[in-house]
Amino acid sequence: MQNIKPGLTALSDALDIAFAEVPVMVPAQERPIQECYGAVLRQDVIARVSVPSVDNSAMDGYAMRHADLANVDGPIPVAGVSLAGRPFDGVLPKGAAIRIATGAAIPSGADCVIIQENVTANDDETEITIDPDVIARTSLHQNIRWTGEDIKAGDKVLSAGGILRPQDIAIVAGQGFSVLSVARPLKIAVFSTGDELARPGDILPPGGIYDSNRFAMIGMLRDIGCEVTDLGLLADDFEVLENALTDAAKNHDVIMTSGGVSVGKADLLKPVVDRLGEITAWKLAIKPGKPLMRGKIGNCLVIGLPGNPVSVLVSGLLYVVPVLRHAMGASRSALAPVRIPVCAGFDFTRRAGRREWLRARLVQNADGAFEAIAFSSTSSGMLSSMVWAEGLIELPESCTQVSKGDRVLYLPLSGLQ
Ligand code: AMP
Ligand code: MG
Repeated sequence: MQNIKPGLTALSDALDIAFAEVPVMVPAQERPIQECYGAVLRQDVIARVSVPSVDNSAMDGYAMRHADLANVDGPIPVAGVSLAGRPFDGVLPKGAAIRIATGAAIPSGADCVIIQENVTANDDETEITIDPDVIARTSLHQNIRWTGEDIKAGDKVLSAGGILRPQDIAIVAGQGFSVLSVARPLKIAVFSTGDELARPGDILPPGGIYDSNRFAMIGMLRDIGCEVTDLGLLADDFEVLENALTDAAKNHDVIMTSGGVSVGKADLLKPVVDRLGEITAWKLAIKPGKPLMRGKIGNCLVIGLPGNPVSVLVSGLLYVVPVLRHAMGASRSALAPVRIPVCAGFDFTRRAGRREWLRARLVQNADGAFEAIAFSSTSSGMLSSMVWAEGLIELPESCTQVSKGDRVLYLPLSGLQ
């Protein structure tokens, strides 16, 4: 029982509905791998080579035949060298060793590697001696990395729908691929609405505020690989908004705005979208960020965020980012935020009915354990709370009270961006 406030949609339902209603909006395109960081992968990647490609040494040392170690009674001749990329081509002679480097192929006949630190070599490295206790603790196959131990040719190494991290690009490169099929970036038009807003750099009129939300939105969108057109500020004027939205919808996949989606006299975005297209979702049971609008004008997705700066960031990270990544073809599993159970280091009382996120940090308490602390205010107008925060504490819809020591869920901001 979630105790959702009537007229509002729970975030999880709103996301389910958006994932069902919003199509994958952009085609796949081939791109050089070095331009694919953060992009949504649109193909499975199947290994074409095994890694390692040959049995090789995990350490610098001497490759030997394990059975020979039982008969050692003096210096052991070094019969050759195997370096990474320059293998010893021959068979290890009985009773001998091969000098071997990390990553070098194990010579035929060898089945263990003794690290160089445990061996004494003569000056010209033609002979080595090994202490009996080192011999006694050397096991068969010691320090050998086997062919295919990391990746076998034919294995699926990455699945379509994932968001490409540095290690993902690295594994693709390690397979010799130089291009990948990824989502074409969404083209997104961004603007802020509000008669009170001024551009950073301009003189602030009395009672005015500088537009900060546009810069939060642009950053969030760039972080997920979108191509942003900054359309600046728009007045709270039906015709101005109508014209701007009509134009932007022609050559963008998405329009994202802040402000003007509440129910005040100057909140004109809803009626404008209603006139030009349709409103497909409205008002989430979330705090901050309740008056959130999703609509469309033709094939262009429109997302109207509220004006309060914290609402923009929280609903942007928890609703808009997953929906847009879905629209680029991300799989559901790539979209769930990281939620870590932690102890609350504070008391908090609230009304049930909406899911709420408190701006939070993890700190060490007197016992050395980590606990979450919350920002002193829950105001959605205080941008400083988001700058202070390293994460969010998520309180479920039904929660009315958090007491120090309770288990709460912590969402690191780094896992949302
Ligand atoms: P609104 O949703 O338009 O009613 O705005 C809610 C609150 O957010 C008001 O206090 C606005 O002044 C403020 N606000 C609206 N847009 C912005 C913006 N772009 N940057 C900073 N604050 C804003
Ligand atoms: Mg406004």
